[in-house]
Parts: sequence; C-alpha cells; structure tokens
Amino acid sequence: MKNLVKCPYCGYEGEFKLHKTWKFRFYDVSRFECQKCHGVFNYYRGVSPTGKKSEFVIRVKPRVKSKQ
Ligand SMILES: [Zn+2]
Repeated sequence: MKNLVKCPYCGYEGEFKLHKTWKFRFYDVSRFECQKCHGVFNYYRGVSPTGKKSEFVIRVKPRVKSKQ
C-alpha cells in the first residue's frame, strides 16, 4: 500500500513507520512515525456517508526540539 502522507512536523514525504491501524467511524486510521524527526501522527482517510472524500492528519506526540 502506497501512501502519499506528509509529516505534519517536518514536512517529510515518503516512507513512514506504521505502528497500527484501526477504524474510526468511516475512517481508516493509521498511526505513523516519521523516520526523519520521529514525530508520531494519526492519518485519517475515508469517505463520508455523503460521499465526500476526507483525508487529514492529527499530531499525536511531538518529538521535535521545541517543547510546548
Ligand atoms: Zn517528520
């Protein structure tokens, strides 16, 4: 399976380490770890009941230098 996912922390595009996948409502969720900055994020992808394609990422564990 090829993903065109972009890291929300550093902008890296390419191969990500897949931690796990699960279903959330009509989404397929994948938890990825960026191989470059090691930030962890959830990638949501699905089609809503109205037929609208939806795709987004949510940051989970920022492991970047700047602490918030
Ligand atoms: Zn990254």
